[in-house]
Amino acid sequence: MNYKVDERGYYGQFGGAFIPEMLYPNVEELRSRYLDIISADDFKNEFHHLLKTYVGRPTPLYFASRLSEKYNAKIYLKREDLCHTGAHKVNNTVGQIILAKHLGKQKIIAETGAGQHGVATATVCALMGLECVVYMGKLDMERQRPNVERMRILGATVIPAESGNMTLKDATNEAMRHWINHPQDTHYIIGSVVGPHPYPDMVARFQSVISEEIKKQLSSEIGNPYPDYVVACVGGGSNAAGAFYHYVEDEHVSLIGVEAAGKGVDTGESAATTALGKPGVLHGSKTLLMQTDDGQVIEPYSISAGLDYPGIGPWHAHLFETGRCTFLNATDDEAMEAGVLLSRLEGIIPAIESAHAIAALGKMDLDDEDVVVVNLSGRGDKDLETYIRWGKY
Ligand SMILES: *Cc1c(COP(=O)(O)O)cnc(C)c1O
Repeated sequence: MNYKVDERGYYGQFGGAFIPEMLYPNVEELRSRYLDIISADDFKNEFHHLLKTYVGRPTPLYFASRLSEKYNAKIYLKREDLCHTGAHKVNNTVGQIILAKHLGKQKIIAETGAGQHGVATATVCALMGLECVVYMGKLDMERQRPNVERMRILGATVIPAESGNMTLKDATNEAMRHWINHPQDTHYIIGSVVGPHPYPDMVARFQSVISEEIKKQLSSEIGNPYPDYVVACVGGGSNAAGAFYHYVEDEHVSLIGVEAAGKGVDTGESAATTALGKPGVLHGSKTLLMQTDDGQVIEPYSISAGLDYPGIGPWHAHLFETGRCTFLNATDDEAMEAGVLLSRLEGIIPAIESAHAIAALGKMDLDDEDVVVVNLSGRGDKDLETYIRWGKY
């Protein structure tokens, strides 16, 4: 079975580049050049140097002994929460900012929902001295005030999207419009393994440093690079893509994606795309998405802003369809309980996104010889308000 992207940008039936004609020159420039640029030695040297000295990589692979006892398995946590800015997202923005320089771009645009990707983008723009404009739904700006101010402190301009629901989808539309009008000098940094080809493949390659490190670290911990399971939460799918990347051909390693069930898969308030979705086109690629019978995108819901997305990346849709990856889900309450559990057992307060992956441990049929790697995508500092409002600790 081939799981990698083909030259047309497809993973099985999913992927491609469904874009307005006016975006074609921008996307085509990127498509025709990204592989040459990112596989050249000067790119790789700069990328790995920054990952080491700026992001703080390699992130530790930590044996969680009390969590292991609780779930009767050998559980390791890949500590992406220890990355600069508090999550894995910066691996991708560092890669794309170096790429933008190689493409000769002076300006960066991005869209953001909860603000995490906006902050990671504003961070690398400050690092490289490039102008940064972030589009964000007006409603999201009100809900995520601290991240808006973080971006501004970092020197970015945050522009409210005032159309539609004034959330992520509308911010994406505005960013696309900006890109169409500024094709020469601007690079658009997308924050997950979504969007038109080549974004899903490019972002997965930048995040694949996660599984590259896990392989080495697990070898020195247990004498072999292969766990029985790799578990990661899935919003758009970038942290999972990074954790799965170097294991996908090793079929004896089970890949587990965990989606947000919100208030419950059947309540109409969830973001469990594989459970509810059907094939369709979203943000430039064919993938699985939550939609009505006549193809309108259904508003997703999750307590976790990073998982509150109505689709998944096309690679994940393919991994789901082929059965290579098993998708589980966790409700808001299950995730919040798992977040408190990890805090109490290991002294690590996880991002609520990552807490969904921890919650899945209780739904797996584990035995004490099983080696499980959970990708801990981010830290919980940004979620303190949500923990406080939930209140059960
Ligand atoms: C954004 C985010 C996610 C979800 O995005 P993916 O692309 O699915 O990884 C998960 N965890 C954290 C901490 C995030 O900030």
